[in-house]
Amino acid sequence: MATSNICDELDVPRVINAAGTKTRIGGSVIRQEALEAMQAMSGSFVRLSDLQARASERIARITGAESGYVTSGASAALLLGAAAAIAGDDLGVMNRLPNTEGIADEIVMPRTHRTGYDHAFRAAGATIVDVGTNDYHLGTGSSNVELWEIEAAISAQTVAIGYLQKSYTQPPLEEVTALATENNIPVIVDAAAEVPPVTNLSRFIEAGADLVVFSGGKAIRGPQTTGIMAGRHDLIESVALQQLDMHVEDTIWSPPPELINADKLDGIPRQGIGRSTKVGKEELAGVLKALELFAEENHERNELEWRQIAKRIANELATVDGLETRLSDSEDRSVAPEAIVTVHSDQTDCTATELVKSLRKKDPRIFVGADRLHANEFTINPMCLRDDEVEYVLEGFDSLLGSEEST
Ligand SMILES: *Cc1c(COP(=O)(O)O)cnc(C)c1O
Repeated sequence: MATSNICDELDVPRVINAAGTKTRIGGSVIRQEALEAMQAMSGSFVRLSDLQARASERIARITGAESGYVTSGASAALLLGAAAAIAGDDLGVMNRLPNTEGIADEIVMPRTHRTGYDHAFRAAGATIVDVGTNDYHLGTGSSNVELWEIEAAISAQTVAIGYLQKSYTQPPLEEVTALATENNIPVIVDAAAEVPPVTNLSRFIEAGADLVVFSGGKAIRGPQTTGIMAGRHDLIESVALQQLDMHVEDTIWSPPPELINADKLDGIPRQGIGRSTKVGKEELAGVLKALELFAEENHERNELEWRQIAKRIANELATVDGLETRLSDSEDRSVAPEAIVTVHSDQTDCTATELVKSLRKKDPRIFVGADRLHANEFTINPMCLRDDEVEYVLEGFDSLLGSEEST
């Protein structure tokens, strides 16, 4: 197994990632070409606004949006999108955020679209107004949210509609963007993990979204600390004004006009609320390279490879007494096929929770998916596993459950 000297040097336990692209264990495997782009960029200085202007053009070309921007993650992009929706081109408001006293600051969201990530909206100063219910899950035929409920929540205080893009979210994005257009407010779409398919890079813009955010560190496999934003030029311009370093000399300030039209501004904004979400030139170069490669990639082949790994693990673990396995039959192509493993505790003398905990104590540690422990199940996700690591994971089970067949 390949060793990772840096982990030893820093005295930090190494993790074998059988859980998928989880930020808390390092996200995804960055592309080699993206690393090379970062290294190359580290040897040059550029004006960050110039680099963002080029990034904007590239993101626009790939997504079909008017403009784009590179952020320090999808979560940061949500914060910046909210800041842009609240402030527009008003320098005074930019300067005050997140204080929104006396300013319109409401983002309307269906309740079932709320996630922990919407903290980013609130961090910009937005107040989330959530509508609808959870009634779909009652199984009575009722839906979670009706379009009229969103409409009824829109007022002079509304600055945007927040929309979480998932296969299960309702109402359809097209209906929400049509309503937003009638009311002259933008729709901000959180599509952080919704690629592949590659067509999703443009799909939500085509559906009328004003801003769409993607994570650069998930399946796109750019640097972990990047996000991609695509959308309306005026909103992206506001993002740039609130995110870029603005300690500039006013008599010589000349930002790239493709990104920022300095002529229409009354002055230069100060360091804005987005200044805390800094993006380096290396990350910018890395994520642009990763995005370009992702857009051209053969995703059918990736999916086939993932399916093969998941199948192999499922087959081998099925031979262990007390474990039963199946493959997830996801129709959602943004998620890799996983091996789902059920633990029959009467035969194994341990629960899925105990097994998952023990795997984490190995050296290197093994992290498997732990979203189904309540059902005495765990999952194995192939996306971040190399061949030699698959062996190590299987050996890990063998050492805990002592089956001869599973090696
Ligand atoms: C991963 C994720 C985010 C955060 O993305 P980062 O790039 O890690 O900031 C936001 N929203 C959703 C739905 C996500 O899955």
